[in-house]
Amino acid sequence: MSADKAARQRFALIVGEGVVRAVAQVTGFSVHDDRIALEGEPLAAGHPVRDAYLGALDPVTNGSQNPVGYCDLPEEAAYLMRPCHCGCAQNTDRDFLPGHDVRAMQARVRAHFDGSPLKFIQWVDANLALTPPTAADSAAAPQLRS
Ligand SMILES: [Zn+2]
Repeated sequence: MSADKAARQRFALIVGEGVVRAVAQVTGFSVHDDRIALEGEPLAAGHPVRDAYLGALDPVTNGSQNPVGYCDLPEEAAYLMRPCHCGCAQNTDRDFLPGHDVRAMQARVRAHFDGSPLKFIQWVDANLALTPPTAADSAAAPQLRS
């Protein structure tokens, strides 16, 4: 396992005799010469990945003698690490790391609108909306009707 691949793993299934014996969330890793040690905590009952696989047959059935196998688990999709969309090259389980969404928007305002938020807003209003939203629209938008 490479350090890059280790950094993207969120869950580890520990398999013995073809059956999943433990399910853990990976919180980090450490490098020991040519080996990588995953670090993490066992998942508690009620976690969808643990509940789907603990006691189940090994989901990796590739016939390989390698003791480490990889597969995509449908239950892990919501937790997968992916690159932050701001371009910082860090990984997150969301679209952006905290505060990086603002960083990404500010970079675009600097790059395309001379650093002027007003020019950006005027461009959005001119190109994406027939009528500019008002403060009343913004206040009304989050309300849910029952
Ligand atoms: Zn980022």
